Amino acid sequence: MTVPVARRDPGPRDDRWPGLDWAGALELVDAADEICLACHIVPDGDALGSMLALAQVLRGQGKRVLASFGEPYTVPASLRFLPGQELLVEPGLLPAAPELMITLDAAGPDRLGSLAANAGRARALLVVDHHASGGGFGTVRLVDPAAAATAVLVDELIRRLGAPLTGDVAQCLYAGLASDTGSFKYPCTTSQDHDLAGRLLKAGVRPDTVSRELWDRAPFGYLQVLAGALARARLERDAAGGLGLVWTTIGRADRDARGVPYDQLEGVIDQLRRTDEAEVSVVCKQTDENDWYVSIRSKGHIDVGSACVELGGGGHSTAAAFTASGDPSDIIDRLRAVLRAPGSERPE
Ligand code: MN
Repeated sequence: MTVPVARRDPGPRDDRWPGLDWAGALELVDAADEICLACHIVPDGDALGSMLALAQVLRGQGKRVLASFGEPYTVPASLRFLPGQELLVEPGLLPAAPELMITLDAAGPDRLGSLAANAGRARALLVVDHHASGGGFGTVRLVDPAAAATAVLVDELIRRLGAPLTGDVAQCLYAGLASDTGSFKYPCTTSQDHDLAGRLLKAGVRPDTVSRELWDRAPFGYLQVLAGALARARLERDAAGGLGLVWTTIGRADRDARGVPYDQLEGVIDQLRRTDEAEVSVVCKQTDENDWYVSIRSKGHIDVGSACVELGGGGHSTAAAFTASGDPSDIIDRLRAVLRAPGSERPE
């Protein structure tokens, strides 16, 4: 049974998001007894952190809450410290047509994997996201491509829901914020993100603990896989409009030999992107299904998000990805053709 919550929208904290339908979002939440949450497949810190933060808040407001993500249904090792995981259920246990579904950090239905069908049949769909390449799905959309993380929007939604920032909720939001700002290093980081970090620390977050869990620990086998990936890396100074491209691959056999699961490879790109001679860095990771997931980063001069959209993927201007099959060198050929320096002519 839902405990009615006396709610008064506190209004905006600042001048961000004048166009977002916060009232519509609160209405959807208020009207639902049971709420299903889903984040994107192979969740990162922002996807899972945002979802678990909101899930705990909604449970605290008397809602029945089910949270999940599409197969493969495995929480990455680096995110198992996040509180609220008792609210996670296998994707197959979500109702086929949820009363209200809330998606987090997913630009489009395809990012939900098997849960796209549930989202398509949901009576109401609330989309909370910060990707520019999405659009067109959701009954109400709380989407800001300028937000550094989905967690930033979830923090505002939580405030408007009148819920307190408990230590557990704050830890989830901090994991999302720190993940998508690269520990407050990426160009998307704003003073408002630091204000949010300050509020989360006041709520009890220990930044050293979160950082260690997210980035600063790994089994020895990971270091060996990383060493192999760096040894295989190729630098192409003339690629990416002359700004330089560095790329490497991690095949399934490379990680199987060291007992490293696919979801532990997220940090490899952060080593490769240090390369001074390359604007664009790329890691091709072979999935358990033998496709290649291609992670791309730029330093701000080339919009790799648009490049990935051309190849069927998506993301942000400085961090994006697409999935492809075939030989990695052919995949890099296709990518090279769509990487353009600013001001250069479109080929053909
Ligand atoms: Mn995100």
